[in-house]
Amino acid sequence: MSSLGAYKVSSKIGEGGMATVYKGVQVSLDRPVAIKVLSHAMATDEELLERFQRESRIIARLTHPNIIHVIDRGITRDGRPYFVMEYVDGTDLAHLIRSGGLDQNRKLDVVLQVCKALAYAHKNGVIHRDIKPANILIDRDGNARVLDFGIAQFLDDTRDGTDRTETGAVMGTYAYMSPEQRLSAHQVTAASDLYSLGAVMYELFSGRRPEGRLRPLSEVDPCLPPGLD
Ligand code: ATP
Repeated sequence: MSSLGAYKVSSKIGEGGMATVYKGVQVSLDRPVAIKVLSHAMATDEELLERFQRESRIIARLTHPNIIHVIDRGITRDGRPYFVMEYVDGTDLAHLIRSGGLDQNRKLDVVLQVCKALAYAHKNGVIHRDIKPANILIDRDGNARVLDFGIAQFLDDTRDGTDRTETGAVMGTYAYMSPEQRLSAHQVTAASDLYSLGAVMYELFSGRRPEGRLRPLSEVDPCLPPGLD
């Protein structure tokens, strides 16, 4: 077992395009944590470095039961930034959709929890920009946590054009992206996150991503109430 600052690192729990996430222990409090470390290949790119550092700053600004909490951040011995989060013992929504592990009430409950997280983030000037099932963790008690603010943006920066870390390049996950986000990162507003959540909701209840001409959910599954449409 290796260590990173005040944390012991145990196992790898996730790996994305930019970073690797490890499970660890905060030694002083003997509690589990998740540690996100920027990948070697990315640590030399100024723009990616800045975006990674911004991710923890953004999460730190948000204190909400449905948004992941950041505890700390630091630099590895080989110079890569990392940040430490509360560890969520659970499964991401993408897995739960595939395994069919949620009943209708739990699905609605998850959507409402993510609505609350987004309402709070937007009120505090943050747009997530990558709402998708893999970025929603559900713990063993059914509590949802939105994570991965890697391409999130402060609303003020998009409005006044100081979104320095990109040139308006399209970022996010195509299947869940609003039409305006598919055009340019600068076009994104809080409504774009709601569009993405709508796409997640459609997949959650129908098992299919919303592509092409959509059938209303109550037609896909006659057991679903038309009010859901
Ligand atoms: P991607 O490029 O795929 O979006 P990423 O490098 O930005 O990934 P995250 O999406 O933040 O990384 O995390 C990757 C995975 O690590 C998550 O899907 C989740 O399974 C796990 N993970 C991240 N944070 C936590 C946490 N706080 N508690 C438990 N698991 C976590």
